[in-house]
Amino acid sequence: MAAKRYDCDIVVVGGGPGGSMAAKYCAEGGLKTIMIEKDAEIGAPLRCAEGVSKKWLTEVGIEPDPAWICADMVGAIIKSPSGHKFQLDESHAGSEVGYVLERHLFDKHLAAMAAEAGADIMMRTGCTGIIKDKNGKLIGVKAKSMGEPIEIYAKCVVAADGFESQVARWAGMDVDMKLSDIVTCLQYRMTNIDIDAEYCEFVIGSPAPGGYVWIFPKGKNIANVGLGVQGTKCKLGADPKYYLDKFIAEDPRLNKGEVLEIVGGMVSTCPGLDETVADNLVLVGDAARIIDPITGGGICHACRTGMYAGKVLTECAKKNDFSKEALKPYDKMWRDRMEDKLYRNFMAKERLAQLDDKTIDELVMLIQDSNIKEVNVYNLLKVVKEKFPKVVEGFEDLI
Ligand SMILES: Cc1cc2nc3c(=O)[nH]c(=O)nc-3n(C[C@H](O)[C@H](O)[C@H](O)COP(=O)(O)OP(=O)(O)OC[C@H]3O[C@@H](n4cnc5c(N)ncnc54)[C@H](O)[C@@H]3O)c2cc1C
Repeated sequence: MAAKRYDCDIVVVGGGPGGSMAAKYCAEGGLKTIMIEKDAEIGAPLRCAEGVSKKWLTEVGIEPDPAWICADMVGAIIKSPSGHKFQLDESHAGSEVGYVLERHLFDKHLAAMAAEAGADIMMRTGCTGIIKDKNGKLIGVKAKSMGEPIEIYAKCVVAADGFESQVARWAGMDVDMKLSDIVTCLQYRMTNIDIDAEYCEFVIGSPAPGGYVWIFPKGKNIANVGLGVQGTKCKLGADPKYYLDKFIAEDPRLNKGEVLEIVGGMVSTCPGLDETVADNLVLVGDAARIIDPITGGGICHACRTGMYAGKVLTECAKKNDFSKEALKPYDKMWRDRMEDKLYRNFMAKERLAQLDDKTIDELVMLIQDSNIKEVNVYNLLKVVKEKFPKVVEGFEDLI
């Protein structure tokens, strides 16, 4: 069957936060934009713990809306394996405390913003390959839309296809990661549990080797309870399910609970790809591996990079130049805004993964006793640097 043909300025592959924000800002810039999403519903299936900080939302033009905010947190608790804890309340929480979202509604809200700006959205449309002209120039993508083959010709492709991104790979870019930079996650939506509904909880150390356990409340007796384990530490019989079931069984607040939903997924924990643009191609969000290496939080990074991509593409369209050189301001924009922090948190993640439980206990106690005015990773590392200089060796200059 001959493939139906579509023509546009920008085709965005993937309808997650990165894709929707890129589509919104491209459409606002007057570009004919098509966003394609392989699944039947934006924001589903869920692959997220749904926690975000609050500060960045307005930066990317999103007004907080109760329609997609499930719970507003008062604080966060960081626990060591033996139960020492450090509690951050709103006054000290800095950017680390925030909302627990209804992620499927949040993602739909962003897609609706893109549509309102004029972008076309094609659901159940999975990209199956890229199209190059006879000179090897990227000129569009192939897809299957509701089972029918289609071709979408565009001046530039935005790869917003998440962790499993294929588009960049098809275009010849190196998006591979080391196993130590991949965290495998498993989460249960649990009910009938006895948690503090106003605090997000994080447990570091051996309960989740190379990652952490999270308990993100979604109401009085309901929460996302999950963990991530570093790829290199997922040995036979010691996978995320083993660790999560063990953690729940040993916690009296959780072990009488019931599971309503199971979520699995991977996050990258490297500090972003070395190259995020190529001729006629831009990578955003998880596809560009731009995600906080220590928290695995990537919603805000996807939104920011999507917005930057849309803005730069609008400028490129004015000169009708979508070459790698012309797209470089996108690369510079996200690096200027985030790269130092991503690298610092990457190094902190590397060190944290090597610490034994005893040292983690000492670190948490140290932080407990410190008088940090605003708690964020930077300030925490400053305290750690004084007492445990070895932990921050090699990236002291970023602290
Ligand atoms: C278990 C887990 C928990 C997490 N918890 C949090 C958290 O609490 N807070 C946080 O900030 N971040 C969290 N993250 C990370 C966060 O979910 C991602 O960083 C974020 O979703 C990245 O957005 P994105 O738009 O780049 O990619 P995605 O949200 O993954 O969107 C990519 C989209 O592309 C679509 N797609 C893929 N391939 C194709 C194709 N070939 N054709 C068409 N469409 C395609 C997918 O269906 C998907 O809709 C978590 C991740 C996991 C796995």
